[in-house]
Amino acid sequence: MNTEWQLKEDIVRICRMLHRKNYLAATDGNVSVRLGERVFVTPSGVHKGMMEAYQILTIDPEGRVLSGEGKPTSEIRMHLLAYELRPDIAAVVHAHLPYATACTLAGIDLLEPILPEVVITLGGVPTAAYATPGSDEVPESIRGFIKDYDAILLSRHGAMTVGPDVTDAYNKMEKLEHTARVVLAARLQGPLEPLPPAEVEKLRRLGEKYRARSK
Ligand code: 13P
Ligand code: ZN
Repeated sequence: MNTEWQLKEDIVRICRMLHRKNYLAATDGNVSVRLGERVFVTPSGVHKGMMEAYQILTIDPEGRVLSGEGKPTSEIRMHLLAYELRPDIAAVVHAHLPYATACTLAGIDLLEPILPEVVITLGGVPTAAYATPGSDEVPESIRGFIKDYDAILLSRHGAMTVGPDVTDAYNKMEKLEHTARVVLAARLQGPLEPLPPAEVEKLRRLGEKYRARSK
């Protein structure tokens, strides 16, 4: 199996996983992987639980289709902006996480340091301003965050995560949704206490070590 086909198979595996975990419904969400000057990306409007590797499009960094049928995802400009601003990443995942999206509706800020695991692995998760899905407003809404964060909430819409490979970007999505569930459950009981600043500092240092090790 060549690298291109393997990466397309990886995208499909992640799309099925996103669907199985209820991180999106039907045709929602999109996934891409970068390999040199090419980007492999999900086509627009295809059910993520039934996608096959042959349906994954190959495009150039400007979004021109090099091979494949149909149109690239309507969020392609968000993916391409992430690749432009983050030379260190090679995968982008966008999903409509139910609990994490509920946090944006309820005005719950996941940048607050609540759970140690999240401070270590994601640093925090900012919320981008509302943008019409599929429009140029979406890349603009993440522009100010993507250089500093690997996971971003999209207000009233979902989330995007990035990473050195598609499994890593997916893992961040899973962690984000898990966090949102815990935070929402706790919020039902009353206000949440953030971790004390000294502990946050300790966790951030641990996170730096952890990321350096996984490079
Ligand atoms: P696409 O089917 O065009 O990828 O759109 C799904 C989506 O989530 C739009 O925000
Ligand atoms: Zn979407």
